[in-house]
Amino acid sequence: MMKTTVTPTAISASPFDTLARLLSDGQVITHPVELIPYERDGTLVRGKPQAVVLPHSRDEVVRVVRWAAEHRVPMVARGAGTGLSGGAVAEDGGVVVSFARMKQILALDREGGLVITQPGVTNQMLDDTVKKLGLYFPPDPSSGRSATIGGNIAENSGGPHCFKYGVTTNYVNGLEVVLHDGQVLQLGGAAADYPGYDFLSLFTGSEGTLGLITAATLRLMRNPPAVKTMMAAFDSVEEAGDAVSAVIAQGLMPATMEMMDQKMMRIIEDYVHVGLPVEAGAALIIEVDGYPESLDAQMDEVVDVLRRQNARELRITQTPEEREKLWYGRKSAFGAIARLAPSYYVLDGTVPRSRLGAALAGVDRICSALDLRVANVFHAGDGNLHPLVLIEDPDDHELLERVHEAGRQIMQLCLELGGSITGEHGVGIEKRAYMALMYDHAALSAMWDIKHVFDPYGLFNPGKVLPPLSAVTPSAEVSTPSVPDSPCAPTSAEEVAQALQAWVAERRAVYIRGAASKFTPPQEYGAAVLATHALRGISTYALEDLYVTVRAGTPLAELQAELERDGMWVPLVSPWPGATLGGIMASNFNAPLRMRYGAIRDLLLAATMVLPDGRIIRIGRPVVKNVAGYDLHRLFVGSYGTLGVITEATWRLYPLPRARASLLVPCDNLSQALQYAGALLPVCLIASALLIGHHSSPIEVEGARIESPYVVIYTAEGVPEDVRAELRQARTALQSFGISDIWESTQWHGNALWANYLASGTPVELVRVGVGRKDLPQLLTRLAPLLHTHPYCADVATGLLYVPGGAAHLSHIEPIASEMGGYAIRATAPCLSANGVTGCSRAPEGWELMRRLKAQWDARHCLNPGLLFPR
Ligand SMILES: Cc1cc2nc3c(=O)[nH]c(=O)nc-3n(C[C@H](O)[C@H](O)[C@H](O)COP(=O)(O)OP(=O)(O)OC[C@H]3O[C@@H](n4cnc5c(N)ncnc54)[C@H](O)[C@@H]3O)c2cc1C
Repeated sequence: MMKTTVTPTAISASPFDTLARLLSDGQVITHPVELIPYERDGTLVRGKPQAVVLPHSRDEVVRVVRWAAEHRVPMVARGAGTGLSGGAVAEDGGVVVSFARMKQILALDREGGLVITQPGVTNQMLDDTVKKLGLYFPPDPSSGRSATIGGNIAENSGGPHCFKYGVTTNYVNGLEVVLHDGQVLQLGGAAADYPGYDFLSLFTGSEGTLGLITAATLRLMRNPPAVKTMMAAFDSVEEAGDAVSAVIAQGLMPATMEMMDQKMMRIIEDYVHVGLPVEAGAALIIEVDGYPESLDAQMDEVVDVLRRQNARELRITQTPEEREKLWYGRKSAFGAIARLAPSYYVLDGTVPRSRLGAALAGVDRICSALDLRVANVFHAGDGNLHPLVLIEDPDDHELLERVHEAGRQIMQLCLELGGSITGEHGVGIEKRAYMALMYDHAALSAMWDIKHVFDPYGLFNPGKVLPPLSAVTPSAEVSTPSVPDSPCAPTSAEEVAQALQAWVAERRAVYIRGAASKFTPPQEYGAAVLATHALRGISTYALEDLYVTVRAGTPLAELQAELERDGMWVPLVSPWPGATLGGIMASNFNAPLRMRYGAIRDLLLAATMVLPDGRIIRIGRPVVKNVAGYDLHRLFVGSYGTLGVITEATWRLYPLPRARASLLVPCDNLSQALQYAGALLPVCLIASALLIGHHSSPIEVEGARIESPYVVIYTAEGVPEDVRAELRQARTALQSFGISDIWESTQWHGNALWANYLASGTPVELVRVGVGRKDLPQLLTRLAPLLHTHPYCADVATGLLYVPGGAAHLSHIEPIASEMGGYAIRATAPCLSANGVTGCSRAPEGWELMRRLKAQWDARHCLNPGLLFPR
């Protein structure tokens, strides 16, 4: 197998003597026998570390990293070692940094919907803790009893419930990381959408190759109050796969859709006897959740669809014990298969879900041709397949070669079907060579750039994830471009590449213009303007796979109009008519509905970007689960065009909500509004907005005049039964204050009102302030004297405050927000600085890394000068 050659310098006894002195007795292991348990993870690959350290605190981690940096010793982070790609294996020796003893939950902020944990906390521990408070951390890897949060984040883990709720990266709000020189960095935190490059997304899924995670701030949801589970049997995997697509096409969003083929069911049944339909070709486990009032209706609809799709047996669990039993069966798959052979090889690939049938047929064909026994489990809703190949004799090298060949061919198949080489287990050592099948030289070289920026000496998990560039065929040379006229409106990524190369070579400032709804480039001598309006339209629309690929200059409104015909949408809203998808992505402009559907980075599956040197990088795949390499596409969210030009992006589709209803409560003063909003916060389950609006003169909502200076707005959307149930709970919460003046409507809603507030001023004067949502009341109270004549809109659920026309007050607002761990910026044209440059907001902690990355990709600061970086 191909591997990179980052070799540790020869390690004499002395560095390890000093290592032992850094920590206490029992925290450093060097005895060869005691090192054995650390040689492997959940895979067959092995590597011998020279030492294992077991730090208790961040400061101890820092000491170890400084020591390793001084002696150039490779470091391999390790959680529970359940990884399935060799990520925690010390292939090149060095020191394993085990986080097994850093397993405290540091803070649980119920009001703020956040938990701060050390990396060694297991999923099970976290689950047990937060569920007691009615909260929920959705990522649920089947290994959750022992897998750690550090490992989850490093692998961007998923699980059965990710179909509806997304993967780990969607829940990481902040990280404390130790960098290669021992520097501790706080990325993100309690607030949403910190300005600057999204290093959180970069670290999540980076498999310990960029730094060590010593704490994580995770977002929690309200635990769905009820759940209903069923199993459906089908004659074949193809039929079961079609049924999954049919459920989705009906506009339903079950919490999970899992599949097992017949072989797998028989193996499990022999082991745990849970009553699986072993005569069927395949079975689905489908779960719906929400308010108790909606479950029967949701399940009835699913059952109708499944009947139409020829389900041969339908079994709805009637008790929690029955449900447990079913899940116990599903989760015993790996254990059951382990009884049949001394070893097995778990594969992990993703395909767009409509290609599951084809993928399975291919897996069977490949394994039969190689004379291998295989059984399959799938996260069917996500198109994530896990063929399990039996290894009857782990010492039989010829057999192992066939197994690996099967793995290679199956990965190739997933790619040919439009998917990824890994949905949740990561690349590690096992799939490093396959990265070059999935990504070309340009994309891989951009990932290597990131690695060099964060880890210049290559000490963190060397050799993992990225194949050496020397082993990858270079992309075709682009001919020396002629200099285009400015403004220019390229029609393809290649034309963008040519324009950028030519202008950057001449050191010209290049301003990227979408609809110019938010940012108007300055008139500047010699500057070039690259307009995206000719990059317009939908490239691919896959309704059955719930994604759409759209060119960057396409106005959001145009896309939504197209999708609406099929009852679909991308849950994005912009206050500005004409705003383009590229502009929305580059400025990370999230509407309140992100609380219901996720933020821009969560909806983004893939993108094509052009770097200033003309490299065209296509990152991601049109699948929700894809953990191959660094999430560079997410790095462009909020980058304000300073890293490159986005030319196309693939978005997750959702069915339009079947029902939507809102409450509006006029309030006489801020403290009343805060009280009401605070009472509504714990109700939010399917809420898409919880806002406080302030206006200095009466406003009109749907023709009715509101005289009071504040309003609280609450919107819920989803299936009608859930919407009714949620609004009932919201009313009950409000009525405890004795309020009678509650308006209800299905006409207006929170996101439209939010857009109205924001559009009431010029975009460039709009200020966005972010703090932890728990701190929002304090922020509003402190700013009240300053803002009493200003309209504003506070997104209570995410702790964001928008002040149209607030730019003149930025210098007053920013220190207050910063003091609270937050930030304040011009929302459409932010400028950040670490040195108090006038007109700039305070730079985030990752500023130095931002500068290094900018220097790597745009050393001449040609792209969008003045945005993010001061001129
Ligand atoms: C039976 C079984 C079922 C599984 N089911 C699933 C599933 O449903 N979904 C899924 O996604 N995965 C699954 N996995 C894979 C694995 O459990 C997950 O990837 C898990 O999140 C790894 O956690 P860990 O603590 O064991 O990490 P480890 O295996 O110890 O490490 C994994 C990677 O994370 C890095 N790492 C660990 N801690 C840190 C840290 N603090 N800082 C930086 N890097 C770090 C390591 O270097 C390594 O690259 C399964 C594995 C098994 C054995």
